[in-house]
Amino acid sequence: ASGSEENDVVIVGGGPGGYVAAIKAAQLGLKTTCIEKRGTLGGTCLNVGCIPSKALLHSSHMYHEAQHSFANHGVKFSSVEVDLPAMMAQKDKAVANLTRGIEGLFKKNKVTYVKGYGKVISPSEVSVETLDGGNSVVKGKNIVIATGSDVKSLPGINIDEKKIVSSTGALALSEIPKKLVVIGAGYIGLEMGSVWARLGSEVTVVEFAPDIVPTMDGEIRKQFQRSLEKQKMKFMLKTKVVGVDSSGDGVKLTLEPAAGGDQTILEADVVLVSAGRIPFTAGLGLDKLGVEMDKQGRILVNDRFVTNVPGIYAIGDVIPGPMLAHKAEEDGVACVEFIAGKHGHVDYDKVPGVVYTHPEVASVGKTEEQVKALGVEYRVGKFPFMANSRAKAIDDAEGIVKIIAEKETDKILGVHIMSPNAGELIHEAVLAINYDASSEDIARVCHAHPTMSEALKEAAMATHDKPIHI
Ligand code: FAD
Repeated sequence: ASGSEENDVVIVGGGPGGYVAAIKAAQLGLKTTCIEKRGTLGGTCLNVGCIPSKALLHSSHMYHEAQHSFANHGVKFSSVEVDLPAMMAQKDKAVANLTRGIEGLFKKNKVTYVKGYGKVISPSEVSVETLDGGNSVVKGKNIVIATGSDVKSLPGINIDEKKIVSSTGALALSEIPKKLVVIGAGYIGLEMGSVWARLGSEVTVVEFAPDIVPTMDGEIRKQFQRSLEKQKMKFMLKTKVVGVDSSGDGVKLTLEPAAGGDQTILEADVVLVSAGRIPFTAGLGLDKLGVEMDKQGRILVNDRFVTNVPGIYAIGDVIPGPMLAHKAEEDGVACVEFIAGKHGHVDYDKVPGVVYTHPEVASVGKTEEQVKALGVEYRVGKFPFMANSRAKAIDDAEGIVKIIAEKETDKILGVHIMSPNAGELIHEAVLAINYDASSEDIARVCHAHPTMSEALKEAAMATHDKPIHI
């Protein structure tokens, strides 16, 4: 039915941007088709990103806890071992259940799902090479490009997904490598590095920049790096990889200080290249249509997600903004709301970011460095989890809450949390920032005791006045 009948919306790509846009469009009464080439829905996030990485982070954390923490809690057993195939199977099951779940949601909402590679041939037509070998043209009044992003390699490095892997290969290794080198200290490299470090790999992270996770608040970043070092991850910052030799058993990396200098050799069994992601527009036919892109290959859109070609929209990782699943989802909803003649809204300054290591690091709003650079006078309130009763009770008290508020108005500008479950705790701050709350607003709200969330309340008290418990 999708081929001949005209749709209101045709979405190319079934990741968190595309599939959420499709469901929302259908809910708004628009006739909608979503085209996806992978064979399963959910995009990078569900298939090879957010979900499988969190599955392995959880499983490897349980193993690590069993080895290092259970005895402190009086739970003893004679031995604990990793069954890697079983761990991978649990991850694969989670992914399969969730991707099938989206197919179910498509059916429920009457979104037509076309499996195949889409190419935009006009502002109202997408030709599809279907996965079963056929060809069809899907017509629509509006076309939304949600083709996401792909792994970025580095010059001279050939990713074979066995010895030299991207995040995709690192989520599916068949053995625990003795030595793992991670190139790139962004959140993906640190999350995957943590997984394998917990399972027993010696992990070295090589990073060209002077710091890990460049978007993080500097003070939090320092504590975070120390925490990862305590977990035996090694960091070689300001270091560049100038040569890769994988001809022998393992891989030999030639390294050089970023500023130039003597070369050293670093050996690894597996190398993970996590040096960023690039927008994916291969084979989409956008050049022919004259769709405008920037130097990094991102599709440029206005504040209604329309490209320079009327009728063609773009959302998610393929456009500028934070390359995160929840940002892609917000884009998707707002975009189809505009198409339906309603008003959509996404504020990229208020998108939370989370690194799902242990402890987790979560933030929303501005870092202290950003606030300083703006020349705004500000106050900082902090509270360590060492003084939080719940964190102490469960003996998992590494971390801190840091709140930055405007000095004159007490309006919250940024919140940074390092703690177990920081990715959950941050949402109180996300809500506060979205409602332009002051630190006093959070401080005066009753928080349940004993909870980790009380650390946020105490940090808010410390921002405008004094905390009680420290
Ligand atoms: P994608 O998810 O990339 O989806 C695009 C889809 O379009 C793909 O399925 C692709 O096959 C399809 N497609 C492309 N071209 C065509 C075409 N021509 N025809 C048909 N289909 C096409 N983000 C978070 O927020 N939290 C996390 O914890 C997190 N963890 C991550 C961990 C890893 C290891 C990785 C790699 C990424 C992670 N991300 C995370 C980032 C997140 O996956 C992306 O931001 C998100 O998937 C972007 O969504 P999207 O819909 O824009 O694109």
